[in-house]
Order: sequence, then structure tokens, then C-alpha cells
Amino acid sequence: AIRRRPKFSRLLVICAIGAGGVLAYADAKSDHSFDTPGTTNKKKLVVLGTGWAGTSFLRNLDTSQYDVQVVSPRNYFLFTPLLPSVTCGTIEPRSIAEPIRNIMQKKGEKIQFWEAECDKIDPINKKVLCRSNVCTNSDGKGEFALDYDYLVLALGAKPNTFNTPGVVENCHFLKEIEDTQRIRRSVMNCFERACLPGLSDEEKRNNLHFVIVGGGPTGVEFAAELHDFVTEDLAKLYPTVKDLVKISVIEAGEHILTMFDKRITEFAEEKFQRDGIDLKTNFKVVKVTDKDIIMTNGSSGEVSVPYGMVVWSTGIGTRPVILDFMKQVQQADRRVLATDEWLRVPNCDGVYALGDCATISQRKVMEDIAAIFRVADKDYSGTLTVKAIKDVLKDICERYPQVELYLKSQHMKDFVDLFSDENGNALKQSKELDIEVFKKAVARVDSQVKMLPATAQVAAQQGDYLAKCFNKMKICEEQPEGPLRIRGSGRHRFHPFRYRHLGQFAPLGGEQTAAQLPGDWVSIGHSTQWLWYSVYASKQVTWRTRFLVMSDWTRKFIYGRDSSCM
Ligand code: FAD
Repeated sequence: AIRRRPKFSRLLVICAIGAGGVLAYADAKSDHSFDTPGTTNKKKLVVLGTGWAGTSFLRNLDTSQYDVQVVSPRNYFLFTPLLPSVTCGTIEPRSIAEPIRNIMQKKGEKIQFWEAECDKIDPINKKVLCRSNVCTNSDGKGEFALDYDYLVLALGAKPNTFNTPGVVENCHFLKEIEDTQRIRRSVMNCFERACLPGLSDEEKRNNLHFVIVGGGPTGVEFAAELHDFVTEDLAKLYPTVKDLVKISVIEAGEHILTMFDKRITEFAEEKFQRDGIDLKTNFKVVKVTDKDIIMTNGSSGEVSVPYGMVVWSTGIGTRPVILDFMKQVQQADRRVLATDEWLRVPNCDGVYALGDCATISQRKVMEDIAAIFRVADKDYSGTLTVKAIKDVLKDICERYPQVELYLKSQHMKDFVDLFSDENGNALKQSKELDIEVFKKAVARVDSQVKMLPATAQVAAQQGDYLAKCFNKMKICEEQPEGPLRIRGSGRHRFHPFRYRHLGQFAPLGGEQTAAQLPGDWVSIGHSTQWLWYSVYASKQVTWRTRFLVMSDWTRKFIYGRDSSCM
């Protein structure tokens, strides 16, 4: 028999549904009104990008002061330094991605997020034109324009192929989370292909030849990670082909890891040699076909080498949307978008650029060097001493991360020569130096500085700096004459951006890492690997990802890496 429900309880259910509906409607209404940007009196701030620079900016921004809209094709923040670990299954992809909406919600203020790509920046009408990448209808839906009062460009960069034929079609890049998954699948496919019946030893060898182009930190870390994966995990699963595996690193320069101290470079090169990783330095890749990689080292003509998989990691290039913007702001002759020391794009009202998509203008660097240099020259009564020059360089390094990194690299021979006698001994403090020699050395540094890669550290510090400026912007507008201490001095109301170098890691595999720490401290070995674990765990943006990353490391220690090919 069916028990009849009493009438009052039915009433209760109807009321509950009704109340729920009203609440849902109210919520939808409030969300809807929230969905209409520009309805407040606040200044409109549009942020492009949710990477290191954009996320650091948003996390530190007082969002109650602005009508904030964020546009990015990626609805999550990605912890890029751990990308190489994802390629071989040490870390799972989701462990290093934090939804951007989670990060924004934690701030308590409402920020609009649009999962879309900015196609064009219109600095004259103060608009950005965007296209959704989840709604690609041909009727134009999914395309929209946003007005801004302030625009923060944090779009990052794209992999640089130097227009080498066949790279885009045949190589993997290591930049996004999708790249890591493709690489992981490709590694496993190479092993499975090599195990198929009927293949000659040569064919197996070709399938198991893994080539990494670029001996920078990313290429080296990936090579080391792959070597560990092969020796610690895959060798047990594929015993018949394990001895046919070859890993090659191709580098156009004389050495790998040139931005690090010479001791680190030497250690890495020796370790790779011991591990059987083939280092091909002074080789330039000129073409990649679907089966072969063609390279030249100048003297011996072209060499063609068959491969199973190639990972291309030769640095970064400017995104098309930034190139187009550079044409509009008279920077077409430059390689990277230039800003001043306050991260403002010159001649472009309300536009700021940070992270990998921009660089502090080299011209400005040179002007600053010249200015500091003049002061130093005057202060030291026309004669430059080593001490004076060291002071000058210290000041420049504080302002410009690229110069600091360059000066710490093994290629600062010009400066080392200046500071030491012919036996390599440091010169005495009082020794006078030829001003012209110094100027030439500075010019040489300037030309090299442009080649240096950008880092997450710089991007995050710039985001933090710019957010602090934005937080004070209102007070500055209300009191345009500025705080008492700088009134009438003609000084800018904010400090210029100053980079603080906190050190750099280079994981080399076999639970060994090299670190170059502030004060030119170099540390290499197993203990540094533990420092690396603790720094990267502490740098995670949320406790969730911190826990996931640490549990992935633990899982790897207990069970090894996952070799399933999904
Ligand atoms: P990104 O972090 O790349 O972010 C760019 C953002 O812009 C992304 O959200 C992207 O989706 C978005 N975007 C792109 N195009 C558009 C568009 N048209 N419209 C709107 N949004 C757009 N640095 C270190 O300091 N230490 C390391 O150990 C280290 N390891 C690395 C390892 C790897 C494999 C890689 C690839 C990089 C590594 N880096 C490291 C460098 C570091 O990741 C970058 O310097 C850093 O990500 C730069 O930050 P960014 O915010 O400028 O750019």
C-alpha cells in the first residue's frame, strides 16, 4: 500500500522548492548584474594573462578599488618550474594547476574572469578585443571588446623556433600543461613502437633516440628527468630495448647552462657524460623532418640524425598580439616590448607590461649606466677606481635583473678581466682603470643582456610591485603633490621596480640539483635537491597544490613513476 504523504509536508516541499527558486533567481540576478562590466564608478582595470606576472598582480591587488576584469585562455595558474617533472609522470598535471577562480575567490572581492584570448589591443580607444576559446561560433558570438582605464599586459611569451623549418610540425615544446601530456604520451609510444615485432635493431635505436634542442635550464632539466625515468622505471618494464635508448642534447653554444656559474656548467656537463647523455655543443639545428633532425657545426657541413622524439627548448619569442601592439606604439624595430622602470609602456596612457612579454628598456639601462657612471666619475675626482666601478655595477645590478644574471654568468670575461691582473688575481681597490675600456665592456654587456631569458621570479616580483603601486594610486591622485618627503623634488611618486635575485636552481637528475644562490653561493648535490624540494613546495600558490605536489613526490619514492600511456 502506498502511504499518503500528509498535506502539510507537501506544502513544506513546495515552499522549499519555491524558496530555493527565489534564492537561485536572486543569485542569478546578482550574478547577472555582476556580469555587466563598467557599471560601477570605479576605474576599469583589465588584466591580460593568468601566469606568474598576472596572478602575482591579482593576489596583491586591492581589488575593492577597481572594476577588475581578467582575460586569459587559461582558467588556471600554472606552476611552470615543475613542468619538466610532469613530462615523465613524477608529478601529475593537476597538481601544478590552480583554478584562477579559486585564487580570486580567496580575496573575497569579486573579479570578473573571461576565458578568452586577446586578439588586439587598441591603445587609442582604450579597448581590447577578445575572442572566447570555449565559444567559437562563426556568427561572431564569443567575440567581445572591453574598455579599460588601466591595462596590465601579462601575456607571457611563445616558444622561439627561429623560423627553423619543420620545428612546429615535428617537435614538441615544453611551455603549457598540454605539452607535457603530449611529451609523456610520445615517450611511451616510442618505447611501445620499439618493442613491436619485426623491427631491426637500427629501427629500434632510431625510435628510442630522444633529442632535446637547447641546453638552457628547461632543456637540461627535461633531459635529466627523462634519463631518470628511463633508468629507474622504464628499464625494468622494457628490458629488451633498454640498452638501445639514447638521449641527446643539442646546444648551439659552447656549453650548456651558460647563465649559471662556471662550476655548475662543468658539473652538469660531467654528470651528463657519466650518465651517457650525448652532449652536442656548437651544433645548430637547421631543419627537422618527420624522421631526421638536420644540424650543422659550421666546419663539418650538415649532419642528419634519425630520432624518435624531439623536444624544442631554445628560448622564447614575442606573441603576435604584442608584436601588433608594438607597431602601434612605435616599437616595431624592437624584439621585445619595452617599458620604463615603473613598468609603463612609453607613450601609451594607462598601459603596463610585465613578465616575459616585456623588458625594461635597454636604452634606459644604458642611459642609467651612463648617468651613474658620470656621478661615479665626478665623485671620484675624474679617476675611476675598481671600488667605484664595483659600486656602479652593484647599483646597476639592483635595477636590472638581466645585467645581474649576465654578470654572474661565465661569460662576463670582459668584467673579470677588468677586475683582475694577468694572473687572475683581483686588483687592489685603489688601482685606476681606463674609462674607455670600462665603457666598451659595458657596451658589450648591453648587447649580450638582450639574449637573456626571463624568469618566473622576475614576473612574480613585477606583479607584486605593480599591485602595490595600484593600491596606492588613489591616494596619489587625491594628493598629487605626493608625500612631504618628496614634494617639489621632481621625483616619481613610486619607487622604480627593483629586482631581488633570490637564486636559481638547475635540477640535474639522480636526486642532485645545482643552485646558484645570492652572494654567488654555489651549492651542488643531494642536499641541494632537498633544498629544491622545500623551496618549490613552499612556493606553491595554495595549500591544495602544495599537498598534491608533496604527495606526488612521495608516491614517486614509493611506487616509481607512472608509465601508463593515456
Ligand atoms: P606566463 O606564466 O607564461 O603567463 C602568460 C599568461 O598569458 C598565461 O595565462 C596565458 O594563458 C596568457 N595568455 C597568452 N596569450 C594570451 C592572449 N592572447 N590573451 C590573454 N591571455 C593570454 N622560471 C623560473 O624563475 N624558475 C624556473 O625554474 C623556471 N622553470 C621553467 C620551466 C619551464 C618548462 C618553463 C616553460 C618556464 C620556466 N620558467 C622558470 C620561466 C617562467 O615560467 C616564466 O618566466 C614565467 O612563466 C613568466 O611569467 P608570465 O606571467 O610573464 O608568463
